[in-house]
Amino acid sequence: MTETVRLGRLLGVDVGVNWSVFVIFALISLGLAAGRFPVVYPDHSPGAYLVAGLAAGLVFFFSLLAHELSHAVVARRNGVGCDGITLWLFGGVARLTGEPDSPGADLRIAGVGPLISLVLGGLFAAATGVLVAFDGPELVTAAVGWLALINVVLAVFNLVPAAPLDGGRILRAAVWKFTGDRHRAAVVASRAGRGFGWALIAFGLFIFVAGAGLGGLWLVLIGWFISTSAAAEERHAELTDSLRGVRVSDVMTADPAVVRHDIDVREFLDEHVFTHRHSTFPLVDGNGHPVGLVTLGQVKQVAPEDRATTGLASVACDLDDIAVVSPDEPLADLLPKMSACTEGRALVAENGRLVGIVSPSDIVRQLEISELRNVRGLSRTSA
Ligand SMILES: [Zn+2]
Repeated sequence: MTETVRLGRLLGVDVGVNWSVFVIFALISLGLAAGRFPVVYPDHSPGAYLVAGLAAGLVFFFSLLAHELSHAVVARRNGVGCDGITLWLFGGVARLTGEPDSPGADLRIAGVGPLISLVLGGLFAAATGVLVAFDGPELVTAAVGWLALINVVLAVFNLVPAAPLDGGRILRAAVWKFTGDRHRAAVVASRAGRGFGWALIAFGLFIFVAGAGLGGLWLVLIGWFISTSAAAEERHAELTDSLRGVRVSDVMTADPAVVRHDIDVREFLDEHVFTHRHSTFPLVDGNGHPVGLVTLGQVKQVAPEDRATTGLASVACDLDDIAVVSPDEPLADLLPKMSACTEGRALVAENGRLVGIVSPSDIVRQLEISELRNVRGLSRTSA
């Protein structure tokens, strides 16, 4: 997601807003101010409707934020990191940096979002009841009433059992619990997502043709987003499935060429890059413990005249940005941990000492081997 404005940190989670949110904010606020509010409560000034519409739109985005933040907080409590939250065109995304390690954790992380939306919906509904009973200001009642409705809609829509919606995660957790097979469960949930996405597209087109206008096209867009995300998840699930039983030590390059972390870029180029064929070097301290990783791409950013005065560690990835795994770990578990900083490479350490490195090409090679094995297995059974 590009063109995201960073808003700040909330409960230790980075919160950003994509530009597309402003389009939706304007559509919602103007829609309420010009459409719904004047119909429900006529005879107010256009300015009053606009203020009520903007306020309702703003509180709606805080509701959305509470939903996503709850995913992030519960994920962290269950041992899954969160890279940040972004609000965008279709709501919000909490970018989790790992996979839950049990069906229960999967269920808790996914379920808390719709639960929070339902609770908010209930609170706004109760507030609406109070406002109506005590003859509160009409436009405040209208705004709070709409917030009750939209939060319940948000919860119900997210509970549809189709990945990548929260309901799809709940379905995955249930199938995982029932079959004991998380990859199978992920494939089932993502196929349901593709099906639901296509159903939404068909329904949206149908009501568009029947005269629903923008609302129909909106459903088509959401359906398209869901089906493409689900297809990507399905590919990922099949990928991890074909790596079943493979350990990190099976694919890693053992004892990679390492570089001391306290040299400058010029020395690095002369002593290591120009004399080795590698494009990535782990940085180690004096005791051989990994402290970073540097790629040729990072070194290229340093201007030739600055090479002698730039410390290598200052352009490299910090240990915090690197996936460090143990040799016995399943290779599939490494996939969600890979970071952009290292261009998908991971360090393998045992008792704090560096023992290997895994690159995307190692994984691709392993996938090809798995595929060849499967084909051989198939031809054998069919013969
Ligand atoms: Zn959610």
